[in-house]
Amino acid sequence: MSEETAVEIARSVNARETSAVERAVAMAERIAERDGAVGAYLTQTAELARAHAETIDARIAAGERLPLAGVPLAIKDNMCVTGTRTTCASRILEHWISPYTGTAVQRLLAAGALPLGKTNLDEFAMGSSCENSALGKTANPWDLGRVPGGSSGGSVAAVAAGEATVALGSDTGGSIREPAAFCGVVGFKPTYGRVSRYGLIAFASSLDQIGPISNTVEDSALVYDTMAGYDPMDATTVDRPVEPTANGLREDLRGVRIGIVKEFGLSALEADVRAVYERAYADLEKLGAELVEVALPTADYGIATYYLIAPAECSSNLARFDGMRYGLRVEAPDVGATYEATRAAGFGDEVKRRILIGTYALSSGYYDAYYVRAQKARTLIAADFAKAFASCDAIACPAAATPAFQFAAKADPVSMYLMDYYTIPMSLAGLPSLSVPCGYVTPPGARGPLPLGLELSGPLFAERSLLGIAHAYERGTRHAAAERIPALSGAGAAR
Ligand code: GLN
Repeated sequence: MSEETAVEIARSVNARETSAVERAVAMAERIAERDGAVGAYLTQTAELARAHAETIDARIAAGERLPLAGVPLAIKDNMCVTGTRTTCASRILEHWISPYTGTAVQRLLAAGALPLGKTNLDEFAMGSSCENSALGKTANPWDLGRVPGGSSGGSVAAVAAGEATVALGSDTGGSIREPAAFCGVVGFKPTYGRVSRYGLIAFASSLDQIGPISNTVEDSALVYDTMAGYDPMDATTVDRPVEPTANGLREDLRGVRIGIVKEFGLSALEADVRAVYERAYADLEKLGAELVEVALPTADYGIATYYLIAPAECSSNLARFDGMRYGLRVEAPDVGATYEATRAAGFGDEVKRRILIGTYALSSGYYDAYYVRAQKARTLIAADFAKAFASCDAIACPAAATPAFQFAAKADPVSMYLMDYYTIPMSLAGLPSLSVPCGYVTPPGARGPLPLGLELSGPLFAERSLLGIAHAYERGTRHAAAERIPALSGAGAAR
C-alpha cells in the first residue's frame, strides 16, 4: 500500500469522508508502533493534535474548506509551538517550553494541519547525520544501522517511515535536502526570505530557511503555498506576492533548459552512484529538457566560505543561551562563572567548536582576513549562479555524493562538513533548491537498497518553475518508493 498524500487526505477530510480526529488518532497509533525503531520524535504531541483536529472538524462541519485539513505534520524541534518543549536537541534547552508559535507552523495549523510532534535534529541544526543530537538517536527507516542525514533527520525519517504525512525542516547549508536524499523523500528549501523565520531558533540567520518535507513534490508545493509570504514579525521576509506553485506543476519538460554544472562532474562518485545520476540526467532529457553545460567556478569555495559565515553567525546567535533567560542554568559563585558553567554543560562538542571558530573569525585582527573575505566569496558564488541562470531554467546535480552512511562512520568533523558540498553553494546564494528521489544503490554491507536524491535548484523566487520541473521529473521516473518503510516491515521493526 502506498502512503496517502497530503492532497488526498485534505480532500477526503474536506469532503467529510474521514475526520481530522480519525487522522490524528491513526497517526498517533502509527507513531507508537514505529517510533521505537526509528526515533524520529523527541516529543510527541498526540493530545495537541487531537484537540486541534476537533476544531478542524468543527470548522469543516461549519462549511469551511481548509487546504491542509487533517494532514499529519511533524515539526523539527527548532521551531516554537506554544506550550510544547522546543529543545533544538540540546541540553541547554532540554526543558524549555515555548511561549509562542512560529509563523510558518502557525500558518500550517490554521490551514488544518495536525501537529503530531517535534522531531530530532543535530544540536541547533549543526550537522549532517542527526548524530549531534544530545537528546536521542534517529535511524534511517531504509536501514536502521544508518543515519537519516541531518540536520532535519527526525523530520525526514518521520515522513519516510509513515509517521507523518508532511514535515517541516530547516535548511542552512543542506539540512533539508541531504537528509531527504538519504531517506528517499522530497525536501525543499525555498528562496531565502520566502518563508518567515519567526519562531525558528536561529543558527545562521542569513542562511536559515524553513521548508517542507513530503513524499511527493505536489505535497511540498501545497505546504509551501500555505506558509510562504511576507511576515511583519521577520524583517528578512520579502514583501512581494507569492506565486502559487501547486497549480503550476507540469507533466513534461519540453522547452525547459537544465544546467549541468561542469565543476560537479560525476567522475569522483562511486560507479553505482554515478550510474544513477547519469540516468537521471538522461531522464530529464527524455522528458523533453535540453541539457546545457553551465560553469560555477567558485562553487568549490562553498564549504570554506560557509564554515566561516555560519559559525560567525552562530557564535552571535547562541550568545543568548547564558543561563539567565532560557533553559538550563548551572549555578556558580558569580555571573561570569554561571555563564561559563551553563554553556560548558549545556552545549555539545560541535556547537562549542562552531562558537569558537565563529568568535575567532569575528575577532578584531581576523575579521577582515576571514569573515569579510568569506562574504566576498559568497558574493562571487551568487554571481556565478546568476550567470549560469542566464542559460538555463534550473540546475541539476547530486544532492549528496553518497547514500546514507553507517552510524559513527564520520568521526572527523571535516568529513561531515564535506557532506554538504552540493547543497551549500545554493544556500550561500539564497536560491530555492530541492531534493527529489532519483534511484537506489546497494553498497557493500547495506541491508537493502538505499535511496539517492537529485538536487534541482532555480533562480531566486523561481519556486513555481522549480517545483513544476521537479514534479515532471518525479512523475516521469517514479523513483519515490511506492512501498514505504522497507526496513520496518516485519522483523526489521524489532530493535
Ligand atoms: N550540515 C551543515 C552544517 O552542519 C548544514 C546544516 C544545516 O543546513 N542546518 O552546518
